[in-house]
Amino acid sequence: KLYNEVQDLKGNIRVYCRIRPFLPGQNQKQTTIEYIGEKGELVVVNPLKPGKDSRRLFKFNKVFAPAASQEEVFIDTQPLIRSVLDGYNVCIFAYGQTGSGKTYTMTGPDMTSKKDWGVNYRALHDLFQISQNRRSSIIQPNGLAVPDASMHPVKSTNDVLELMNIGFMNRAVGATALNERSSSILTVHVRGMDLKSNSALRGCLHLVDLAGSERVDRSEATGDRLKEAQHINRSLSALGDVIFALAQKNSHVPYRNSKLTQVLQSSLGGQAKTLMFVQLNPDVESYSETTSTLKFAERVS
Ligand code: ADP
Ligand code: MG
Repeated sequence: KLYNEVQDLKGNIRVYCRIRPFLPGQNQKQTTIEYIGEKGELVVVNPLKPGKDSRRLFKFNKVFAPAASQEEVFIDTQPLIRSVLDGYNVCIFAYGQTGSGKTYTMTGPDMTSKKDWGVNYRALHDLFQISQNRRSSIIQPNGLAVPDASMHPVKSTNDVLELMNIGFMNRAVGATALNERSSSILTVHVRGMDLKSNSALRGCLHLVDLAGSERVDRSEATGDRLKEAQHINRSLSALGDVIFALAQKNSHVPYRNSKLTQVLQSSLGGQAKTLMFVQLNPDVESYSETTSTLKFAERVS
């Protein structure tokens, strides 16, 4: 069973941190990332306000440095993704402020270049390859920007690429601030077969590019924009509350507090597995957002 590969997972919630590089053409600014350890340690500091309390250590299951490739990131995600074929439900989230690399991690910057592929394409490609070898798995992705869900049967990675292209087109056409700032979910339903017992296995993989987590300045945002920002903040904190409750093994898990957690309820908790990519900007201007992102991460890990 593929599950053997994930048996070393401690508990069902993992948190990976990924720091995006300074972008080409951008002046190399001061960074808040002081140290990245081999065992998932991260030390963050505000270089503009040095002092003994300005340094903080965080621990993750893994930290990906700015130089980490898409492939390296996928290698550490693959066992979790493969457990879907053994009937597990899996949720993978990217969390962070706008511009921190959520979409880069989940989708990638350019789908025509295979080496740039993010977790989405690599996951589907991998599942198709395995299902072809096993011959008995059927996969259906379901690109869903809640509430406009649609379900499409697919037979190959190319089908998925096409579907996702259409998704991107829709996004580009309606590129309002709202689209930019809403979470998007790609759900893959997998029907596998346990070859030993000949029984059907059903698993579900949710790949979630969350809305930007940045806080909106109340003095600047008004009307619809403020309402929208408050709605996003509520749904992200509801997600945090659910993961926190699961990590604590609380008997009450508050799924009903947001649409996002309601949609994902059957894939959060129980036997389900969760992976959160916590995305960080390296520059000192992002220090305050970085701190609040790390606080969120600390709570759910
Ligand atoms: P978000 O989805 O969080 O708003 P993006 O994924 O759009 O952020 O990333 C912002 C910019 O940074 C994009 O131009 C993206 O291509 C680039 N970027 C993000 N992460 C990386 C990375 N690991 N390596 C190279 N460029 C990256
Ligand atoms: Mg994005």
